[in-house]
Amino acid sequence: MISIKTFQFNILQVNTYVVWDETGEAAVIDPGCMYRGESEMLCSFIRDNGIKPRLLLNTHLHFDHVFGNPVIGEAFGLKAKAHKADLPWLTTLPQKIGVLGLSVEKVVDSIEPENFIDESSVMEFGNTEFEVLHIPGHSPGSLAFYCRKENTVFTGDALFRGSIGRTDFEDSDGPALISSINSKLMPMPDDTVVLPGHGPSSTIGFERNNNPYLYSY
Ligand SMILES: [Zn+2]
Ligand SMILES: [Zn+2]
Repeated sequence: MISIKTFQFNILQVNTYVVWDETGEAAVIDPGCMYRGESEMLCSFIRDNGIKPRLLLNTHLHFDHVFGNPVIGEAFGLKAKAHKADLPWLTTLPQKIGVLGLSVEKVVDSIEPENFIDESSVMEFGNTEFEVLHIPGHSPGSLAFYCRKENTVFTGDALFRGSIGRTDFEDSDGPALISSINSKLMPMPDDTVVLPGHGPSSTIGFERNNNPYLYSY
């Protein structure tokens, strides 16, 4: 049985998820904490509840999803895991957000090549397993993490409640996004809980019946 705590962090209100099971072991997904207070809130929640993070996962490497990688990484001895195809987003981060005056070198260092993951990877902590699904389109390396036994999927910025991720970036691919959502997410059971990178949760059944973007290509 998993428990999930959701935080909304940074100016873009990224959903940061702490997911743990009965063993106390946990995955932290998309730590978006940008300000000291946000980092402290996340770390205190983990420590105060006796949670032991074993995985640090990024659904993709847009900057709003990775700000907190160094903080969580250093606090709990973890390196982030993400898909290789998004690496350019990380390596160009200093130029992209230099204007914000943030120190981003540590974010760039928070991922190492041996931590790249793809669909052949299975992410495990405690008694829990996440299947890794590649849902390219919003970014080339966008991933979803599917906890089959708990009927829950973390969709990053691929699928939102009633919407999908932006596809106006240079490396976006709208048709690929729609087709990967339709082929990999929509076959899941109706009551599968969708936990996206921004905004409220949903279910696969609700999206299949109501999401206006899904059959437009
Ligand atoms: Zn994004
Ligand atoms: Zn985002």
